[in-house]
Amino acid sequence: MTKLHATTAKELVERIRNKEVTAEEYVLSVFERIHRLEDSIHAFVTVTKEKAIEKAREIDKKISEGKPLGRLAGVAIAVKDNICTKDTRTTCSSKMLESFVPPYDATVIERIKKEDGIIIGKTNMDEFAMGTSTETSYFGPTHNPWNLSRVPGGSSGGSAAAIAAGEATLALGADTGGSIRCPASYCSVVGVKPTYGLVSRYGLIAYANSLDQIGPMARNVYDCALFLSIIAGHDPSDSTSAKAAKRDYTKFLKSSVEGLKIGVPEELFGEGTSGNVEKQVWAGVHKLEELGASCKVTSIPSLDYALAAYYIIAMSEASSNLARYDGLRYGYRTNRDNGDWSTVYSKNRRIGFGAEVRRRIILGTYALSTGYYDKYYLKALKIRTIIRRDFEKAFKEFNVLISPTMPIPPFKIGEKIQDPLALYMCDVDTVSMNLAGLPTISVPCGFTAGLPIGMQIIAPPLHEDLMLQVAYTFEQNTPYKNQKPPLK
Ligand code: GLN
Repeated sequence: MTKLHATTAKELVERIRNKEVTAEEYVLSVFERIHRLEDSIHAFVTVTKEKAIEKAREIDKKISEGKPLGRLAGVAIAVKDNICTKDTRTTCSSKMLESFVPPYDATVIERIKKEDGIIIGKTNMDEFAMGTSTETSYFGPTHNPWNLSRVPGGSSGGSAAAIAAGEATLALGADTGGSIRCPASYCSVVGVKPTYGLVSRYGLIAYANSLDQIGPMARNVYDCALFLSIIAGHDPSDSTSAKAAKRDYTKFLKSSVEGLKIGVPEELFGEGTSGNVEKQVWAGVHKLEELGASCKVTSIPSLDYALAAYYIIAMSEASSNLARYDGLRYGYRTNRDNGDWSTVYSKNRRIGFGAEVRRRIILGTYALSTGYYDKYYLKALKIRTIIRRDFEKAFKEFNVLISPTMPIPPFKIGEKIQDPLALYMCDVDTVSMNLAGLPTISVPCGFTAGLPIGMQIIAPPLHEDLMLQVAYTFEQNTPYKNQKPPLK
């Protein structure tokens, strides 16, 4: 029988329900694993062991009393540390919010609790979700479970590493320009960035509102579909929440791609894509062909401008969103106040924010300032509209599109952190779906020298059902989901 920490959410809920194992036994086994591995992985900023055990006992009690159980009954869930959890600190991996304890739960957290999911802790991330490697965290980097000297990807690196290492069964991430898909790809797990608006952002600490989406991460497609069914759905507390009907996405997981038309945009295999990544993703495309889909190379020329447009929009929105952290209303405050308000304000921000966050606030402020607004921000918005239209056109011809998630395999910790542009370039295949608001999944599609590679499946807005079906078919017909990182 599969070890408890390696069991899928689907199987666990059944085993707990059938009294083969208690929720408490399982949760204790997860914490045993966390204690054993955290020194080398560092996936968590905060663990909530006491609360988790209490919740597990509550579930076990419900079972012994024959009371109805939620769909996530007993499952250990790790939460990215930019999603607010009532009475548990939520730091965004920043000194600025090191001691921030939210007085309320994000909508996604409420929904997890209602279905009896167990929150086991808050995961490490790039500071304020700005990064691709989880190296900009104030608390230090997370290590990739497949190779401890490599980055786990980012910014939801802690969430992906926790799942890959068996330190959690499900995790929440958030994706502004790839932050769910990149670490999913680098840690060989599954990650979904839903359609913009499908999952409520209420209680997500904003990086760039028009791009941010919360999404599920898991060891397989079924668990992602189950988790998405629970967190998705309209929420009046988020003004951008879609009015889409709630669906059970597990119902769409049939193993078939017969007759589907798949497009492969050549721009997403651009300069800088590693030969091994390209080879492995193409092998994935051919697998789907073998299974009955028809695949064709296509071109979406505006995608060449996506990265530049993304960074201008993301930094502009960030500069405005992060203005509230001045140490007076919110956030870190230096030793009492010598000087006028602007001196104090600058000092709080200089010490409270790390270098990458400060860089982006400065660049974003510049892009929005008088005289430059038209030249940068407005231009970026126009490119965004063109990209959205070009995707619409592509989806007239194809049911889904496929590309690598990341152009290169996981790199060494420390290798790129001194070179921001080199890190930004790694986002070249993920940002355009955020600009267009499209649902995209990253699924494991192989290895190169023991390092994971991920493949993206991109669908039209609100077609998560189709996206998950293609991903599921791929997963059922390839061996990758059964491979485990070399950990004790
Ligand atoms: N790496 C991208 C950035 O730094 C995306 C981050 C994210 O999705 N939060 O902006």
